[in-house]
Amino acid sequence: MDLAVERGKTLGLVGESGSGKSTVARLVTRLIDPTSGTVQIAGGDITTLGGGRLRTVRQNVQMVFQDPYSSFDPLSTIGRSIAEPLRTHLGGGHSRHKPRVVVLLELVGLSAELADRYPGELSGGQLQRAAMARALSVEPDLLVLDEPVTALDVSTQAQVINLVSDLQKRLGIACLFIAHDLSVVRHVSDSIAVMQLGRVIEQGPAEAVYTAPCHPYTAALLSAVPVPNPVTQRARKRIVVSGESPSPIDPPSGCRFRTRCVFAMDICQEEAPPPYVNDQGVIVNCHLHTTGPKLEGRSVLELAAPQKGIST
Ligand code: SF4
Repeated sequence: MDLAVERGKTLGLVGESGSGKSTVARLVTRLIDPTSGTVQIAGGDITTLGGGRLRTVRQNVQMVFQDPYSSFDPLSTIGRSIAEPLRTHLGGGHSRHKPRVVVLLELVGLSAELADRYPGELSGGQLQRAAMARALSVEPDLLVLDEPVTALDVSTQAQVINLVSDLQKRLGIACLFIAHDLSVVRHVSDSIAVMQLGRVIEQGPAEAVYTAPCHPYTAALLSAVPVPNPVTQRARKRIVVSGESPSPIDPPSGCRFRTRCVFAMDICQEEAPPPYVNDQGVIVNCHLHTTGPKLEGRSVLELAAPQKGIST
């Protein structure tokens, strides 16, 4: 299944550890090369580029990493670190870019005074904002955020998610927002893609995927997200997955989720499920939509409660 994100939109990419989300981020930023397939930016394949054209791509695609502390040089001030991409791509010394650094700090809600501080003097939330300022310094077309809130406490997470949403709207850039928690990407994403064992198994408009998941794995990820209202939490139907995720080096035959799927049928072992597109534009790879209960694009949560693996 292909992944695509348009200018001015955010694609949320979710999945467990080892599902391949961060590999996608590294492919898009050309930190690694693909063994097959292409990565297209503005219609052009970037996987074969080198030299000056690769440098231009690297300017247009910027990344924010999970751990803000390890993504900054502890011996360099915040201002110098934010100016680093500007010096690389535009040349000049640190002082030339000082005014721009102040504008960038204000853009992400930080005081200009922080330019002279060192990373160890900032909180995790402040540092992640500074990482966004650094990524935005060269006005990229695509911002890749690889689990940007995972290392932050809950209240700071909400602030950073709101900041991403605000910046994305104000600047009109495309964002690829990676997380392992569907609740994190829901409010910031226009569309959501779910990865399992190196494959995208469901993708579509954020609200459709969140409210009516078509793939058992998506439903299981959603089941793991607690609902703040205890009445709703008790009443909701949940799909539970057991067992460890198989190795991506030696995935199961047919559907890669079949060893953990409570709905697995004989065909799931024999054939990889083809994509099914429903009337809301959700694309799902699961035999349940064409075989057995024939959901035909409806939510997997419609399956009867007594079935093994669903708890109410
Ligand atoms: Fe489960 Fe089969 Fe669907 Fe895979 S294709 S998710 S094993 S029902």
